Amino acid sequence: MVHFVGAGPGAPDLITVRGAALLEQADVVIYAGSLVNPALLARCKDGCEVYNSAAMTLDEVLAVMERRADKCVVRLHTGDPALYGAIREQMDALSAKGIDCDVTPGVSSLFGAAAALGAEFTLPGVSQSLIVTRLAGRTAVPEGERLRELARHGASMAIFLSAGLLDGVQSELLAGGLAASTPAAIVYKATWPEEKTVRCTVGTLAEAGAAEKITKTALVFVGGFLDAPYEKSRLYDPTFTTAYRRGSEDGEIAYLSFTERGRALAETLRCALGGEAACTRDGVKLKDWTAARFSAARALVYIGAAGIAVRAVAPHLVSKVSDPAVIAVDEGGQFVIPVASGHLGGANALSREIARLTGGVAAVTTATDVSGVFAVDDWARTQGCAVTGAGQIKRVSGKLLAGETITVRSAYAIEGEPPERVALTESDAPDVWVDIRPHEALTVVPRTLTLGVGCRRGITREILETRFAAFCEQTGILPEAIADAASIDWKESEPGLRAFCANHGWSLSTYTAEELSAVRGEFTASDFVERTTGVSNVCERAAVLSANGALLARKFAGDGVTFALAERPARLNWGEGNG
Ligand code: SAH
Repeated sequence: MVHFVGAGPGAPDLITVRGAALLEQADVVIYAGSLVNPALLARCKDGCEVYNSAAMTLDEVLAVMERRADKCVVRLHTGDPALYGAIREQMDALSAKGIDCDVTPGVSSLFGAAAALGAEFTLPGVSQSLIVTRLAGRTAVPEGERLRELARHGASMAIFLSAGLLDGVQSELLAGGLAASTPAAIVYKATWPEEKTVRCTVGTLAEAGAAEKITKTALVFVGGFLDAPYEKSRLYDPTFTTAYRRGSEDGEIAYLSFTERGRALAETLRCALGGEAACTRDGVKLKDWTAARFSAARALVYIGAAGIAVRAVAPHLVSKVSDPAVIAVDEGGQFVIPVASGHLGGANALSREIARLTGGVAAVTTATDVSGVFAVDDWARTQGCAVTGAGQIKRVSGKLLAGETITVRSAYAIEGEPPERVALTESDAPDVWVDIRPHEALTVVPRTLTLGVGCRRGITREILETRFAAFCEQTGILPEAIADAASIDWKESEPGLRAFCANHGWSLSTYTAEELSAVRGEFTASDFVERTTGVSNVCERAAVLSANGALLARKFAGDGVTFALAERPARLNWGEGNG
């Protein structure tokens, strides 16, 4: 029997337990001497025959296997044998001779090198794909897999077997449209004592490799994952407090129970309202569970004592505009207590929903609810609006609670009758504004805009952010008014653009040149854009198409970026039964 075994990337303790056991039993070991660490052979028993395949032809390797097939033969390959291991030809030859074989996986050098860099290939908002490839060398690479073709995706890349061809790697990546500033790294002999990591960019790849004299046994990584900011950082950013916590489409409800009865209730709620449920009886830790979900979930529901919920979330609370809804429900479902983020976070509304399901009572304690007065922040949430100047919510609610009337000036029609003690005004100093432009007063911002974007290939998120700030300044539009972004289809995987959109919580819709050309209206035309994209304008057309609305701000160009805004009609209503 022949066992193909992955030896791991180099460090002798990175072989799997199964692989190590096979090495210990082996009567014959054939190892790939050029890359497998010989320290692993210390595991072999006395009398084990050891061959270094670096000095052998395929036929010689097969001859040893055939001769000793009745013994335990281990064929030791570097990393995982399924990547560039040339095991398939050996397995086919063995099966033709009726010799059994199996495969024990190993830790690929791919992962050894990622660990050395502390890198994650799949960062949300940066890339969700990893391309594993090589430059053509003695082994040809299919035409459609040329490095320049693969580079066009903007995905994370791991390039094997190419350390001696860094010039070629660099020029292929550039030819594929990656910016010279795209992050890259070279990892030499990952997990070996002589491991070296070199961080550079696509434009300095060859130079960096030459400076470190790296010509073999190295992996090249390329992509924004090596240093780009990603979605999560935004969620941890305490300055992210002016935007309304995104609505129900953003994040799930997470339930944590502590008993079997609680588990059953959590399951009932999960089935009705969606989300994910966990129970501390399965070994989940309250603290860890809370820390992992606080920024990402829309609501945290603790099926247990309110005190448990309070203590668990206390270290994480930042602001009512950014914190998730926090709710405690007793395991009988009798009392549903919104603990934090009642209005903007939707804890009051969700508590009522849960109480309806359990037949219990929502113990709502926010003053405006108790006195039955209008709550601006709650209303903003039901209208899908953002809020800026949230620090003033307290003052506005205080006026209402004191029995005074508040004034609202709206740039948009609001259907229905305003609630009690809310008066519409044309005054320039209302208590509340409803508008997409900035004001001193508390402002409810309808999310009516689509940002159309055109950009050159390899644009960085930093340039997009700088240009976006200038664009907002010039148009006098609040960034909170933007609901989503739109562009042409082949910008879909542009890493900088993706990171930019993710940072603002926007989805990116993309359209083909034909779809964009078919949009009717008057748009700023450019010969250059027409020549490079096949449509005379990208940003304005994409915005109008995606918003299905009117152009609000025309093309704003500079630094390889164009922005435009289109507006869909705001649909606001005072709702029924308010007050
Ligand atoms: N099956 C192996 C790859 C074999 S091909 C695996 O899964 O890792 C040989 C190539 O792998 C080398 O040219 C180099 O690109 C890469 N490689 C192998 N070991 C490495 C290590 N320790 N550090 C960096 N690259 C390594």
